[in-house]
Amino acid sequence: MNLAVDRVRDRPRERRDPDRGERRRRRVVGPERAQEQEQRDDDDPAPDAEERTQEAGDETDQGEPHAAYRRFVSDGDLLGRLRAEPERAAIFLDVDGVLAPIVARPEDSRVPDETRDEVRRLASKYALVACVSGRTGDDARRLVGLDELVYVGEHGLELVPEAQSWRGAMRAFADTVEWPVEDKGLTLTFHYRGDDDEEAAEAFLLEVAERARDAGLRPRFGRKVLEVRPPVDASKGTAVRYLLEHRRLERALYAGDDATDLDAFHVVGELPLGVRVGVAADESPRGITEEADLVVGSPSEFLDVLRGL
Ligand SMILES: [Mg+2]
Repeated sequence: MNLAVDRVRDRPRERRDPDRGERRRRRVVGPERAQEQEQRDDDDPAPDAEERTQEAGDETDQGEPHAAYRRFVSDGDLLGRLRAEPERAAIFLDVDGVLAPIVARPEDSRVPDETRDEVRRLASKYALVACVSGRTGDDARRLVGLDELVYVGEHGLELVPEAQSWRGAMRAFADTVEWPVEDKGLTLTFHYRGDDDEEAAEAFLLEVAERARDAGLRPRFGRKVLEVRPPVDASKGTAVRYLLEHRRLERALYAGDDATDLDAFHVVGELPLGVRVGVAADESPRGITEEADLVVGSPSEFLDVLRGL
C-alpha cells in the first residue's frame, strides 16, 4: 500500500473542487452485482491487467453484459472545460483494457489503428498525453506505437530513481526461485493460473513470498499470481502526480479499467479540474464504476470519448 496515495485519499476531496458536490449528486449507482464484485475484489485483487483474462463468462446470465455500465455518470461539462483549454490539460491513459481490448494472452494485445490516430491527434493538442501501464514503458510504447507520448511503466515504479537500484536484487531473487517468472525488471510476476495443482503452487509461492519479504522486497498476491516489487512507494497515482507537478498542470483526464488505476483516480479527483473515466468490464473492480465521472463499457466506447476531446 502506498503511503503517499493514502495521504491523498484521506484528505477531504471536496475541498478544492467546486464541482464536487454537484458531481456526487449526479452519480448513478453502480450495477446490481456490485456487492458480489466487491467480494471478489477483496478476495482476489488484480495487480495487473496482464493477469486479467476473459473469465467473465460466469456473469453472462445477467443479461447484456455491459448494459449496466453504458451511461454517463456525470458530465457537468467537465469534458467541455477540459477541451476548452487543452494547452493546460493532461490526458492519462491506461493501455490494456482502455486503448487495447483485453485478450487472453497479453502478448496478443493490439491498439486499433483508429484509436492510435485519435491519440496522435490529442498529443498534438494537449499539454501532455501519457500512457501509464503495468507493462514496462518500452512494451507500452511498442504496443501503442506513438513516440510523441510519455510512457510510464510498471505502475509508476519506472519514475522512481530509487527503484532502479533494486534491479540487481530483483534479478538475483528471481534466480533463487524454482518457478517460471515474468521478469519486467522492477517487478517479478509468478503465475500459477492453470497449474496442475494450484493449491500446491500457492503453498509454494507463499514460501517464496516469505523469502521475498525477508530479502526486503514487497510480495503481493493477485489473481493467480504472486507479484514481487522493490520496497519503493510507487503507483499509477504517484506517477500521475509526478507528471502533473513536473509539467505544472492542474487539469487532467485519467482513463482506467482496473484496480491499480484507482490510485490515479484518487489523485485526479483532487485536481481543480479532473475527469476520471472508467472503462468498465464485468471483471473491473467496483471503484472503476463508482468513482468515475464518466463510465463507458469498452475500449471502442472510450474511443468515442477520445473523439470528443
Ligand atoms: Mg488496464
